Amino acid sequence: MFCTKCGAQLQDDAKYCTACGARVAHPNAACAQADEMKRNSGF
Ligand SMILES: [Zn+2]
Repeated sequence: MFCTKCGAQLQDDAKYCTACGARVAHPNAACAQADEMKRNSGF
């Protein structure tokens, strides 16, 4: 995976970017949330 802020390559389970220190959002978690929102909104 890559840091969304600086683009540095990170380990898949990294919670923080080792290059810039930004908190890393995990794509899988975001997908799960999006699915949940779709379900709640009637899609
Ligand atoms: Zn970074």
